[in-house]
Amino acid sequence: MDAKEQQRALAMIAKQVAGCRACALYQGTTNPVPGEGNASAEIMFIGEGPGFYEDRQGRPFVGASGKFLDELLASVGLDRRQVFITNVVKHRPPNNRDPQPDEIAACKPYLDAQVEAIAPKVIVTLGRHSMQRYFPGEAIGRVHGQPRRKDGVIVVPMYHPAAALHQQTLRRVIEADFARLPEFLAKTLNGAAPARTEVPEQLRRAANPAQAAVDAAAGETKHQDAQQMRLL
Ligand code: SF4
Repeated sequence: MDAKEQQRALAMIAKQVAGCRACALYQGTTNPVPGEGNASAEIMFIGEGPGFYEDRQGRPFVGASGKFLDELLASVGLDRRQVFITNVVKHRPPNNRDPQPDEIAACKPYLDAQVEAIAPKVIVTLGRHSMQRYFPGEAIGRVHGQPRRKDGVIVVPMYHPAAALHQQTLRRVIEADFARLPEFLAKTLNGAAPARTEVPEQLRRAANPAQAAVDAAAGETKHQDAQQMRLL
């Protein structure tokens, strides 16, 4: 699929989402939030579901957690124009509750189609619900920040940025996971990955030279994971 075909495919998916009634989440919403970004992105971020501001604007991650995500992207030399951002459900769950399994299942074909159209080299899951798509039964406190190959793609589970808004210690964990993303991927792709796989150019440029400091930060936060799991 070339870039124009990818854009057309994503536009078609967004149109289908706008008219979707496959679960009850569309009821009471202002806008669908199919996702946005670079149709040819090497890196795709998958969150949980739209919140209040996302519903109002029809765009993913535009509230406080979105601002934090922008900061995290900038910390590794990226911005929204280079990545694609979406959620496991495309309509806002009422009162920002968690998306239910049947709703995630109903919405899965759209996310599957987005992943297929974009064909990213790296998928970062944000929060428990998108992590479960690739690592069912895992605990995010145990696997966050650790890249794994899944269905031919490198998947990196991360905490949801919203979880860090009022938790300074968790904020440091997410920042450390993001800071280590280029280095983790370089190690993974240069080691166990098939020879044809290369470190995505966007991440190669963003490689973090201050790894020693990041390792120290991650070591400091590792023992806090059990406590943080109760928050998510
Ligand atoms: S959340 Fe997904 S499955 Fe449910 S109505 Fe919206 S687009 Fe359809």
